[in-house]
Amino acid sequence: MAECTHLDQIHDVKPHTQGCEECLKMGDRWVHLRLCLSCGHVGCCDSSKNKHATKHFHATKHPIMRSIERGEDWGWCYIDELELDFA
Ligand SMILES: [Zn+2]
Ligand SMILES: [Zn+2]
Ligand SMILES: [Zn+2]
Repeated sequence: MAECTHLDQIHDVKPHTQGCEECLKMGDRWVHLRLCLSCGHVGCCDSSKNKHATKHFHATKHPIMRSIERGEDWGWCYIDELELDFA
C-alpha cells in the first residue's frame, strides 16, 4: 500500500478564515471547506465551482489538506493522491 511521504509538511496551523478565503473576497459561495495543513489556508472543495483548495495546491505546492467539515477527519495528499486519516 502506498504511503504519504509528505507528513513532515504538516504544521500546527489555525484556519485563516471561517470560509473559503478567495470565495469570501469574491462574494461567492462554496459547498465544503478544506484546510491546508502547511499554511492554514481555507479553500473550497472540488464540488464547489471555484475549487480553491485544489487551486491553492497548484499555486503553492502545499501537499496536504484536510476536511474541516463537522464530523469529518479525513485528509488528502494531492501529490500522492492518497486519502489520510486524522481521526
Ligand atoms: Zn503525500
Ligand atoms: Zn473558494
Ligand atoms: Zn497552503
